[in-house]
Amino acid sequence: MNTHALIQKIDAALPQTQCTRCGYDACLPYAQAIVLDNEAINRCPPGGDAGIQALAALTQQPIRALDPECGTHTLPTIAFIDEEHCIGCTLCIQACPVDAIVGANKKMHTVLSDRCTGCDLCLEPCPVDCITMVPGPTEWTIHLANQARDHYNLRQERLSERHGESLSAAARVLANKPKVSAQADSSSHRSATIADVLAKARARRQSS
Ligand code: SF4
Ligand code: SF4
Ligand code: SF4
Repeated sequence: MNTHALIQKIDAALPQTQCTRCGYDACLPYAQAIVLDNEAINRCPPGGDAGIQALAALTQQPIRALDPECGTHTLPTIAFIDEEHCIGCTLCIQACPVDAIVGANKKMHTVLSDRCTGCDLCLEPCPVDCITMVPGPTEWTIHLANQARDHYNLRQERLSERHGESLSAAARVLANKPKVSAQADSSSHRSATIADVLAKARARRQSS
């Protein structure tokens, strides 16, 4: 099997949640690293033991335990937005690798549950902590993985062709952080307004 074909087969065996827990920006870069850089095959928590067995067979390597530094294997989850507390900042939309969140600036946001991969990447950017993970599909199927890959690829194409944005999911999340600070620093009035909104949102959340 040539290198390209092996990368494709390994990518096809990965869950496509695009969660970055393996340490790579998405599933395909991890597949490429396994083939091209001899990266370990035990770095994908969503794939769990079954995923490691599949990768071991494809790469003709021994089966290994999941690397605990990457996380633990859990049942699938999906994100849920507490719409009452959402301030419509859009940071979660920017972080989502598969376009599973809809909303507009200053409007409440909603997760499209049939698109969500449970990657968790929307949690950290949310300034009011109104996103939680709840139980998702009973099992993560090949159909769901293929669908997630398609959604991820469509998003990547859009970001690179129309906006020239970074293709890195991790970079997107980090890039979103300074935007909030930059907005808050732009003027004292604006800073006070944003701080006030966040404080009220947090207060509402704590009291609910
Ligand atoms: S599912 Fe997550 S941990 Fe597994 S290969 Fe894809 S991005 Fe990496
Ligand atoms: S909604 Fe959140 S958990 Fe679901 S795919 Fe998007 S970023 Fe990941
Ligand atoms: S990051 Fe949080 S507050 Fe901002 S739009 Fe998303 S859910 Fe709403």
